[in-house]
Amino acid sequence: MTLTAVLPGGSATIGLLGGGQLGRMTGMAARSLGYDVQVLDPDPQCPARAIASRTITARFDDADAAVRLARECDVVTLEIEQIAPPVLAAVARETRLCPNAEAVIVVQDRIRQRTWLDRHGFPIGAFRIARSAAECAAAVIAMDRCILKAPHGGYDGRGQVRVATTGEAERGWESLGSRPVVVEQFLDLELELSVMIARRADGEARAFPPAVNHHEQGVLDWSVCPGQLPPAVGDEAVRIGHAIADALDIVGVIAIELFLVRDGRLLVNELAPRPHNTYHHTERGCSTSQFEQFVRAICGLPLGSVNVVRPAAIANLLGDLWREGEQLDFGRALAVPEVRLHLYGKTSARPGRKMGHLSALGGTTEEARQRVLEARRLLAR
Ligand code: ATP
Ligand code: MG
Repeated sequence: MTLTAVLPGGSATIGLLGGGQLGRMTGMAARSLGYDVQVLDPDPQCPARAIASRTITARFDDADAAVRLARECDVVTLEIEQIAPPVLAAVARETRLCPNAEAVIVVQDRIRQRTWLDRHGFPIGAFRIARSAAECAAAVIAMDRCILKAPHGGYDGRGQVRVATTGEAERGWESLGSRPVVVEQFLDLELELSVMIARRADGEARAFPPAVNHHEQGVLDWSVCPGQLPPAVGDEAVRIGHAIADALDIVGVIAIELFLVRDGRLLVNELAPRPHNTYHHTERGCSTSQFEQFVRAICGLPLGSVNVVRPAAIANLLGDLWREGEQLDFGRALAVPEVRLHLYGKTSARPGRKMGHLSALGGTTEEARQRVLEARRLLAR
């Protein structure tokens, strides 16, 4: 399908469902291009409020509020998957919604997403859908160590329980609310990687080079690009990414998180049809950032080059770094060569909350990674 482009430079307005850091950085890229930006988020103090000409404070199940946003916008997109399906439908009736509602509905529910990946033949690890404590226990007997994952609202490792015994599985089921869960076999990971595909309505698509990612306790800690990978692994990851973007008919961007298992298998972990934490380094290291690429894709502009200009790395800054009443000495981090600071404007620092990130460039991926980790170490003192 070809859609008329939403051209910048006039009064064209982009609407964002969700005003977190991803919305904020997308909005900044949109503003650089000359678009106006409006945001809907439940939190009146959301990070994207700073770059929006209008912020509607409403929940993600408030269709009336979403329609008020959509009426003012040439295109509406989202930075979070957890938008109620009737809201997506209401927006799509009013204006152009990218990505399409069906794709978001597949991704927003872990059970549906996992089943979809399986049905379409994409490589994933062993899993079961469990609908009772007994089914969770049976899954552990069949698959050994497992992770129980709640279908909704999980991010940064929340809504997940790692279990190794039938007793833990039963207690884990209860702790997740005694509702259906995905039970995944716990995989012995060699490394984690991700792919980001940008795709236009006419099907033209481009993949950023694969990123290699490191998680601590289920939360992204650092990410580098280009990731140091066997070429065959990177190529296969990109091929899988394109196939998923095509099958979901994504207009915009989609991140595909993958596992390289020690036995050599390359498996899809999960999908995110929006900008992604593991591609923040594209703002520094690539000709086009993920945020600009996203805006280009939803507005029907030519996709930008995905060339790596310089190897780049990012490290997340979690709320744990902030101590009550103390100002962090960002000067220490910024003194490290080629390091930049990205703060999201969040008013309160809670443990585990993503407050910002540091980015660094280097002559090599490893130099960039060392620089960004050194900058964060200096901050933690
Ligand atoms: P995020 O929103 O940060 O991407 P999430 O809460 O959606 O995370 P997952 O991506 O499912 O959660 O899992 C978070 C991390 O936990 C993974 O990146 C990986 O490090 C680890 N993990 C998840 N599933 C498995 C598994 N089956 N085997 C081994 N490790 C896993
Ligand atoms: Mg994940």
